[in-house]
Amino acid sequence: MMTIFSKIIKGEIPSYKIAENDQFFAFLDINPMMPGHTLIVPKVEIDRFFDVPDVFLQNWLAFAKPIARAIEAVVPCDRVGITVMGLEVPHAHMHLVPINSADDVNF
Ligand code: 5GP
Repeated sequence: MMTIFSKIIKGEIPSYKIAENDQFFAFLDINPMMPGHTLIVPKVEIDRFFDVPDVFLQNWLAFAKPIARAIEAVVPCDRVGITVMGLEVPHAHMHLVPINSADDVNF
């Protein structure tokens, strides 16, 4: 069965796309912790982050960096935090979350 993120990547579920390349898809989180909260998902379905091959992780971070910088440039925040959770969706994904030090963000 396809994950909800695979359905988003295929366009079966609408999303607000931020960027994509042959390996990854970036889109806004539907329930953002902060405005600009973005998810970056590999197009292949890998559940656990620790099962992601190292070379793939390198590509993932290389894809994420300019997106994080672009979010910092347009969203008022102190910095963009990058984190991995996976509490809800069994398809490995990175969260890019604009952070304001004064705010109380609960992960
Ligand atoms: P996690 O699995 O790391 O706990 O979080 C999954 C994230 O996916 C959550 O922040 C949640 O809001 C987001 N999410 C779940 N379903 C959808 C969806 O259908 N569309 C979008 N854009 N985000 C989703």
